[in-house]
Order: sequence, then structure tokens, then C-alpha cells
Amino acid sequence: MNCPACRQPMVVLELDEIEIDHCISCGGIWLDAGELELLLEDSAEKDKLLSSFKVDKNTKRKSRRCPLCLKKMQEVLCGVDNEKKIIINECPQKDGFWFDRGELEEIIRIGSFDKSNKVLELLKDMFKKS
Ligand SMILES: [Zn+2]
Ligand SMILES: [Zn+2]
Repeated sequence: MNCPACRQPMVVLELDEIEIDHCISCGGIWLDAGELELLLEDSAEKDKLLSSFKVDKNTKRKSRRCPLCLKKMQEVLCGVDNEKKIIINECPQKDGFWFDRGELEEIIRIGSFDKSNKVLELLKDMFKKS
């Protein structure tokens, strides 16, 4: 699978049987549908965060294509309050989410997940290796 941002082939990382596609050259991360939920584990924070996701049709961000179906991805606003919102990309057919470098970390921060969260462990590992 190629990176939707810079078109380099992505590497697959595994964490507790979840496969994560990661672009070494731009630091982006692709998560297949359902993987974000798995990574966030069951918590009140997760439900709150996921229910805040809202498709935004007015952003002017550079469009990217889904690495699976190649359709243009939509912009999704995430954030539990108005001050801390970030925009990520989602496949219009729900194949998954694309996170530019730092965005996955930002989501964890916004959602106030605790420090032992799987995602933070994963990110630590990833950047140690690269
Ligand atoms: Zn890339
Ligand atoms: Zn797709």
C-alpha cells in the first residue's frame, strides 16, 4: 500500500494483532476501519471522542486519496470541545482513517486518554525505530 500523502510504500507495524500502516518518509499513519477503536480500547474517553467526529465539507485542505479504494478522502473534524479540534482524513466508504504526522498523538491528547494508552506506546516505539 502506498502513502496517500507522498506515495511512498508504507511499512506494516503490528501491535496486539492490529496492523498499522506507517509511512517512514512523511510520518503518516493509516488505520483500517475499526483499528482506531481497537487501539483506543474501551473507555468513556473513547466513546466521547468517536462521537465527536464530524465530516467537514468546508475545509480547504489538500485532498488525499484513500490508499485502498483511491476515492478522495473526506475531512473529519475531531474534538470534544470547540477549542481543541483537529482535522483528519477518512475514506468516504469508511475503509479507514489517515493521520498526518502528529495527528494521532494530538487526538489522544484531545481525548484526554491516559498515558498508558496503547496508541502512545505505539508511537513511542515507532519513533524509536525510525
Ligand atoms: Zn508519506
Ligand atoms: Zn477507501
